[in-house]
Amino acid sequence: MKGSIIDDKRSDAVQLSAKELQRYSRHLIMPEVTAEGQKRLKAASVLCIGAGGLGSPAALYLACAGVGTLGLVDFDRVDLTNLQRQVLHGTKDIGRSKLESACDRLQDINPEIELKLHDCRFSSGNAQQIVADYDVVVDGSDNFATRYLSNDVCVFARKPNVYGSVFRFEGQTTVFAPHLSGPCYRCLFPEPPPPDSVPNCAQAGVLGVLPGIIGMLQAVETIKLILGIGEPLIGRLVHFEALKVHFRELKLRRDPQCPVCGENPTIFGPIDYDQFCGAREDGSVPAVSVQELKRKMDASEAFELVDVREPFEFEIARIDGAKLIPLSEIAERADELQREQPIVVHCHSGRRSAQAVRLLQQRGFANVYNLEGGIDAWSDAIDPSVPKY
Ligand SMILES: [Zn+2]
Repeated sequence: MKGSIIDDKRSDAVQLSAKELQRYSRHLIMPEVTAEGQKRLKAASVLCIGAGGLGSPAALYLACAGVGTLGLVDFDRVDLTNLQRQVLHGTKDIGRSKLESACDRLQDINPEIELKLHDCRFSSGNAQQIVADYDVVVDGSDNFATRYLSNDVCVFARKPNVYGSVFRFEGQTTVFAPHLSGPCYRCLFPEPPPPDSVPNCAQAGVLGVLPGIIGMLQAVETIKLILGIGEPLIGRLVHFEALKVHFRELKLRRDPQCPVCGENPTIFGPIDYDQFCGAREDGSVPAVSVQELKRKMDASEAFELVDVREPFEFEIARIDGAKLIPLSEIAERADELQREQPIVVHCHSGRRSAQAVRLLQQRGFANVYNLEGGIDAWSDAIDPSVPKY
């Protein structure tokens, strides 16, 4: 590492109080840190995108470490299903905004640091303005649109983007920093995967401790960049597999053709990431709301309700009258469905069913609708006796 991303002028301008010297004593006695490094940490500002699975451990340890300004951006509320991994929040916080809950916890951990709360969705409209105030971005987002957005704005602003992602028993992390000679996210993935092809945590699950491990690695990398010590994960990606306890390292290369950091860039500002990632494709298939489905049921209208989730999900929760045909079987079992009457397709949250609607449309079904929000929305808005999972 050539040096800290915090220049001397800024770290020289801060002082450590007697209390801080005591608080950080285990840092100060290490020759790689000392009061010099601790002042760099205090002078630094880090933005965590998301106060969820990855953002929780990252923010906790960055606060402990004495990062002077810690920003959090999130718009979500704490939900019971979050607590299996989002260690910033507790049972008493269910229903509260994640930012408020995170703020209480982080202030308790370290009242010496400044917390900046951005209570909004990180979007093309606000991302550049938010990122401008920080030295490093820790991307704890759980969707492709936000990942491309945070990557692009960090490239534009010449700030390191500490990336992490988790899936079931696996996770990976790296540092994207073209201005420090590394690749960016787009160098690796010029195109997002087709919508619906990659399930998220809500659909595929994640071992709760996994984001803990990856989020802490993101904190480690952030602290190293600030202290200017060690070998940062620039141009290297670490992949962790929990079941075998394998850490693998992959070399990453910059793509000279990269549209944001390449030799002839074509993108100079945030784009429409929802459109780029096809996240709006859910809306491009005909859809009905859970209220409309309830009305159809109450009116005894003729239609077929198809559940494209897996059998184990059907065991946990179901909507009465639904016929189970898992997404992987829908194409070959399409003949089991009646073409004459409307078909409403549902899954857990609406993504798999949107894909099923498209598959059925390709097979000539003209009267097929996606249930918006899936069985989750049904449980929330219509029938709370249907368990959420
Ligand atoms: Zn790039």
